[in-house]
Amino acid sequence: MPRILDGNRVRDEIKSELRPRVEALAAKGRPPGLAVVLVGQDPASQIYVRNKIKTCHDLGIYSESITPPDSISTAELLAIVEGLNARPEIDGILVQLPLPRQVDAKRILLAIAPAKDVDGFHPCNVGALVAGLPAPRACTPAGIIQLLKRGGIAISGQRAVIVGRSDIVGKPAAMLLLHEHATVTICHSKTPDLPAVCREADILVAAIGRAAMLTRDFIREGATVIDVGTNYLKDREQVARIFRNSAAKLASFDQKGSVLVGDVDPIDVVERAGAYTPVPGGVGPLTIAMLMTNTVASAERRLGVC
Ligand code: NAP
Repeated sequence: MPRILDGNRVRDEIKSELRPRVEALAAKGRPPGLAVVLVGQDPASQIYVRNKIKTCHDLGIYSESITPPDSISTAELLAIVEGLNARPEIDGILVQLPLPRQVDAKRILLAIAPAKDVDGFHPCNVGALVAGLPAPRACTPAGIIQLLKRGGIAISGQRAVIVGRSDIVGKPAAMLLLHEHATVTICHSKTPDLPAVCREADILVAAIGRAAMLTRDFIREGATVIDVGTNYLKDREQVARIFRNSAAKLASFDQKGSVLVGDVDPIDVVERAGAYTPVPGGVGPLTIAMLMTNTVASAERRLGVC
């Protein structure tokens, strides 16, 4: 049986390491502070934001959520961001994506002070990532590195193949793996013979957004497979096909109306991989843990603790 890289366990480990750092900051004057801006009423975004705020409470990090209406203009949202940039007790600013169509999302993300950009999306922080300088790192890719390291998976000298080249996951994950001395290949929708490239991977990262796309033909026997995908299946036949008529999954679908699956075939990965991240319970829990890490590190830098 392959090893399961348990995201919930690694998240809890990271949280318990953050607690004394938060306490030390609070003792020095104030706890770290995170502001989350959630525009509109998107239910998925509301759940993500609620979980982030809840984790802040749990760790003793000061948090506030700002919830302007869907009709907000770019200028109004810029004013909110600039107000947060100016507040000394706020160390991290997160503007939950997606933003409504009338808002210029690029302008908003550029307006966040790089030192408070705990998502790691600002071009200054992307540049710092490329240069290997300390700065907030994109949370999901940083979480992947934690899963590998804390799961005892060697990275140095290994062949890493990443499927997906988004600014949020694929590109920063590639850069972080390169800094860890992997030999990195980035694939995308125009990559010819994707299964053959993926089969070269000692570490295969799937960040595609296509349910169970990477089947056994893509996985070298014994490879480590990191599945970033979060796809909600809403078609019962698709659930039955992907989960090979699993009674438990079909019952869950009948109860909830959807079932979560990653970008990797959930049955094939168990049969082929040496280690893998389950969905749910793999990469997902690390994203919030790394957001908290970035917020604490930002407070430490701003308060001159490190
Ligand atoms: P994205 O911006 O849509 O990027 C998807 C990437 O996959 C693109 O580079 C695209 O190639 C590539 N791709 C699409 N179809 C392909 C195909 N048939 N063959 C090869 N490559 C293909 O997505 P993302 O934001 O990176 O997210 C990817 C997945 O991760 C989604 O399911 C998302 O929900 C999930 N996610 C999870 C977390 C978490 O915390 N667990 C965080 C972030 C994202 P092109 O560039 O050529 O179009």
